[in-house]
Amino acid sequence: MTVRSFISIIWLLSVTAIAAFAQTAVQIKPGRDPKVAVDEEYTKKIREYTTETFFNSPLTDYLPASSKVPTPKAVLGDVAGAPGILPYSHEVYRYMRTLESSSPRVKVYSIGKTEEGREMIAVAVSSEANIAKVEANRAQLAKLADPRAINLNDDEAEKIIAASVPVYYITGTIHSPETGSPTALMELAYRLAVDESPYVKQIRDNLITLITPVVEVDGRDRQVDVYRWHLANPGKNWPGLIYWGKYVAHDNNRDAMALSLQLTRNVLNTFIGWKAQVLHDLHESVPYLYDNTVGDQPYNAWIDPILADEWHLIGWYNVGEMTKFGMPGVFTHGTFDTWSPSYLMFIAASHNGISRLYETFGNAGADTVERTLSPSEYSRTWYRQNPPLPRAKWSQRNNNNYQQTGLLVSLGHFATNGKYFLRNFYTKSKNSILKPKTAGPAAYVFPGDDPRPGGQAELLRLLQMQGCEVHRATAEFTVTMPSKKRPARPAAVETRASGDGNGGDGNGGQEKDGAPTRTFPAGSYLVRMDQPYSRIADMMLDLQYWAPNDPQRNIYDDTAWTFGELGNVQVVRVMDVKALDATMEKVGGEVKAAGGVNGNGSVFLVNHNADNALATLRYRFKDAQFETAEEPFEAAGTKFNRGSFVIRSVNRSELDRAAQELGLKVYATDAAPSVKTHPIKAARVAIMHTWLSTQDEGWWRLEFDRYKVPYNYISTQDVAKDENLNAKYDVIIFAPVGRANPQQVISGMPMFGNPLPWKKSELTPNLGGIDETEDMRPGLGWGGLQNLQNFARRGGLLIVAEDTSNFAATFGLTPGVSIAPPQRLRVTGSVLRSKMVDAASPVAYGYSDNLAIFCANGPIFNLSNTVGGRGGRRAPADSERFTGRGAPDEPDTPQNRPPVELPEEPKAEVWEATPLTAEQLRNGVFAIPPSARPRVILRYADSRELLVSGLLEAGNEIAQHAAVIDVPYEQGHVLLFSNNPIWRGETHGSYFLVFNAILNFDQLNAGRKLAEK
Ligand SMILES: [Zn+2]
Repeated sequence: MTVRSFISIIWLLSVTAIAAFAQTAVQIKPGRDPKVAVDEEYTKKIREYTTETFFNSPLTDYLPASSKVPTPKAVLGDVAGAPGILPYSHEVYRYMRTLESSSPRVKVYSIGKTEEGREMIAVAVSSEANIAKVEANRAQLAKLADPRAINLNDDEAEKIIAASVPVYYITGTIHSPETGSPTALMELAYRLAVDESPYVKQIRDNLITLITPVVEVDGRDRQVDVYRWHLANPGKNWPGLIYWGKYVAHDNNRDAMALSLQLTRNVLNTFIGWKAQVLHDLHESVPYLYDNTVGDQPYNAWIDPILADEWHLIGWYNVGEMTKFGMPGVFTHGTFDTWSPSYLMFIAASHNGISRLYETFGNAGADTVERTLSPSEYSRTWYRQNPPLPRAKWSQRNNNNYQQTGLLVSLGHFATNGKYFLRNFYTKSKNSILKPKTAGPAAYVFPGDDPRPGGQAELLRLLQMQGCEVHRATAEFTVTMPSKKRPARPAAVETRASGDGNGGDGNGGQEKDGAPTRTFPAGSYLVRMDQPYSRIADMMLDLQYWAPNDPQRNIYDDTAWTFGELGNVQVVRVMDVKALDATMEKVGGEVKAAGGVNGNGSVFLVNHNADNALATLRYRFKDAQFETAEEPFEAAGTKFNRGSFVIRSVNRSELDRAAQELGLKVYATDAAPSVKTHPIKAARVAIMHTWLSTQDEGWWRLEFDRYKVPYNYISTQDVAKDENLNAKYDVIIFAPVGRANPQQVISGMPMFGNPLPWKKSELTPNLGGIDETEDMRPGLGWGGLQNLQNFARRGGLLIVAEDTSNFAATFGLTPGVSIAPPQRLRVTGSVLRSKMVDAASPVAYGYSDNLAIFCANGPIFNLSNTVGGRGGRRAPADSERFTGRGAPDEPDTPQNRPPVELPEEPKAEVWEATPLTAEQLRNGVFAIPPSARPRVILRYADSRELLVSGLLEAGNEIAQHAAVIDVPYEQGHVLLFSNNPIWRGETHGSYFLVFNAILNFDQLNAGRKLAEK
């Protein structure tokens, strides 16, 4: 017997023993140690504020006393969860820092800032010994997180596991109206620091608990403002939390892939930096504690199966323990599907850890109120044997009891089985590194000749931010590609971006020994899959497929996100492990596209490839003279696409600096190209929001800020008051509101009750800042609609998408475009293929065909050449012949007269309007003249190749229909999107459709070919 196998056997025995231990007993009884003194006064208050004894547990129905360490009362003035008390973030931090200064078991770390400059923190609580060796422990865990450091040596790993303690990371109040976790986590930190009961001591000795008490800090402070307003205005309705963070509300929990928000980056860096094993995120929208750790199908397809087992082990154990406490309404499984990796907690699932999420029950504030539940909430089901009560008085203290009890049980379980979970952590990390040899792929390759180096660099930087290593090939290399047969995916297409075929332009497809090969040029980037965070890259870059007949009918979120496709970046999934032998070097810093000015002359040319940095460039030099070419051309030995920039009267060295920074190649020349050009201006942009919801437009604002495209932020109420919008703006963007019906945009909120102010005041210092109003209720109004119409009439450009496209169509802003109601269509946040219809439109500049776009159920546009016409595809019956003589394709013949030739029926493609007939043109009051007709720029692809990624059912209802339409509106234009071009930081490839429209707002008719009649 070798030493190695001996150790393996010992390991096996110990694993068995620990696993058995995990299942049978945390032998230490949960609850207070009678020998330990209790803070009587605090304990009395806990019991007073808890509305029923069964809404508490032996773990939280007392507070241990400490002579040195102050309780949360020191800051709150009462106990955690007390009615009427909701601390600001700085108060929570003050308490955590008080803990730090009074206990060697607590350490506070600053983990970054929010968009508005507020601090985020993480609080570590453990034994003195563990806190003293935090850094050494971290260094040990780092070897488990990246087993390449120990050559994947299991024996070595065992030694490290034996000498390390795991890190359990808890995050609170990412969702600002879910208000309970800060006080729960203050008290939890106190308990972990001072309680000498064996149960808590065991946690402290064997685990580092890491706590971020407030994730959405900007939103927390606003929420506390609103609550203070509510307390100061008893009996009145209070304003809803229209803004949480600077940009988005609830969707701050959909950013774990795109990392657009500071809070996500800060939590990710903390999780990765600490080499934590768990990320446990606290929410409060389900009674009384839904541990959705187990969740429902389908599970994310890229997680390590070990994680699925961990979810079950942890989730069911958690519920089991709390069931024994007799607390009603604790359950797991539930209805939350575990498909999308966009949730904050999924940072752990995608980085070899364990993701967890609690939904407890909050009152959106600290009032104690009677809560009545719906039958679906209080019914008993197989996974909820002790359901919540149909009606109960509910307090924030109850919520804090549930949160802390669940967490203490979880921490206890994890501490007891720390070695078991560390071993899993190591194994999952190792499995990630072994990916090329097991499931594959070997690597994702980003070809060195991608025509969009800026977009490519952007996506690679995102992967770097996710913790992935990126390599660059220093010589060309060739790999074998899978042969072309495509089973399983009915709507398969040869995609130009992702896909395991010969995706991409150019040099694919040589046959070598029968197998197709592909050669990638030097300079191609590789994301190798033999690295510890390969899993997140695979999740983000692969295609998703959600079967239309999947048993899961309550789809929780988007079904697809494929970043290569949505980023308009070529990404090739390579299975051939030979890819890993290519000559390559690891990219040291951030991936950057090469840029700068080359050549001589005072005219500067920039190719238009739809890289978003081009918009930044235009606004950086807003006083320079920019023109855009209406046709492709060649100059300075280079091919330039239609739309390429011709820049004059600009300082060369400034331009060079900007081009280097932005990764744009600029060619200096003496001769401007001879093709037709038109000026592109630094248009004056406004983004208009409602006071109904700001989240979906928030994603637009975020990207405008990212690319430094300036805009004024206005509300529908501002537009209602402004009769001359053209004096201030060239472009008004009405981004999606999110499920708003057009009438609501006009009417706003009901005017029955009291005014709802959203503004800064002494009572509410954190409101305002983004936008303000005396009363959130009034909407756009009919006057506002008129002002908007006049804006377009007089030459402005109005941009709308999804539900605001519906708004524009409903109120007559889109003559010739109507919207068809879907019948069986289901597109649940999917990636669909588009086809180019009019590449000469300035909106399409820089784009080639087959752009992938993000679609969530339409709208389905139909076109007509008459105002009010229904248009679009004619009903099949129209084109079928009527009963009579002859074959199906033959004409009928009335008897006793000679046959006549039938007049030709007007024909049109689905995305076109049917040509006007002579009958329609006779006294054509409703006929739209050719120059005023809608111009389709992109359409959805044919059914067969429509689906790129995600769920698509009855896709024929939207296939071939127009997706992006430029509608002339007297002197101006309305640009309609069926897709959402700017969504959750995931659709970087379609942003430039919007930027093109802005830059060419007064030249949108360029390249237009008009119908004859
Ligand atoms: Zn939530």
